[in-house]
Amino acid sequence: MILITGGAGYIGSHTNKLLNSEGYETVVVDNLVKGYESFVKWGSFENCDFGSSKLRDVFEKYDIEGVIHFAAFSSVAESVEIPQKYFKNNYKNTLNLLKIMREFNVDKFIFSSTASVYGIPEKVPITEDQLLKPINPYGHSKWITEKALEREAEKGDFNYVSLRYFNAAGCDFDCEIGELHDPETHLIPLVLDAAIGNRESVSIFGTDYNTPDGTCIRDYIHVNDLASAHIEAYKYLCEENKSNVFNLGNGEGYSVREVIDMCKKVTEKDFKVEITDRREGDPDILIADSSKIRNELGWQPEYDLETIVKSAWMWHQKINSI
Ligand code: UDP
Repeated sequence: MILITGGAGYIGSHTNKLLNSEGYETVVVDNLVKGYESFVKWGSFENCDFGSSKLRDVFEKYDIEGVIHFAAFSSVAESVEIPQKYFKNNYKNTLNLLKIMREFNVDKFIFSSTASVYGIPEKVPITEDQLLKPINPYGHSKWITEKALEREAEKGDFNYVSLRYFNAAGCDFDCEIGELHDPETHLIPLVLDAAIGNRESVSIFGTDYNTPDGTCIRDYIHVNDLASAHIEAYKYLCEENKSNVFNLGNGEGYSVREVIDMCKKVTEKDFKVEITDRREGDPDILIADSSKIRNELGWQPEYDLETIVKSAWMWHQKINSI
């Protein structure tokens, strides 16, 4: 059985669905601070904080063979405001999880890392061997956790795969689960909120970046492509006795303006777009070089930006019609 922390959240719930559809047994551990119980439609569920000693009971109860660790706080802006919250949950609590895994001889671990570990990249597309220089506490908390994993693996009887996500986007095509953050800070759901009429306008955070249209460029990857990468990573851990780190992106960049235009095209709605100041800590361009995961795990992303936006729009319409 695979234990999924944060399996009631956005990426965790999509991965849980895919794992179950491929015949894996799962148990979701989530404290429902950010997640939704209604998103746990597959496998077992334990309402538990992964940083608490109660987690030991979950390991007692189930026959856990591996852990996929999504649970974390992930707002860059909040991490700048309250750094200790991020270091405690994302780093220290992960040490609790690792300690309990050791007690129960569970040796396979998949970690949700982030492109934020690179900070301002030296060159794009970004390869995994670039220097890690996070520029905010969120990225820093993930980076030191990667370091802890590296040391843990050096001790032996433990292997991990760290997946550095670029911009997760899009939703389940059946609309059973989707993206639902409170507060929402991500570009695509905010733009769709304007398209549906819940907000008057969309803000572009800065048009003076060093990019062709002056707005930031990001690499958007469909959440189901992220989910399938976790399955490939799990198979890798079962077959190979080693650890690894992979970027997880489409390898294509889109500017904020291009994303807004795509949302207008897909939704066939027009809405006001305002230009505001830059948001703190946004690098000009983040695009993954994902050739390593393509070559070593045989993983391929399936979905382009248009499909990402279409799936997000279906979900957005569903949750706003209730
Ligand atoms: N962004 C924007 N307006 C918004 C939200 C985001 O211009 O209302 C920009 C943001 O500055 C970044 C890109 O859109 O360049 C993607 O931001 P998001 O928060 O979705 O993801 P991040 O790149 O921070 O993980």
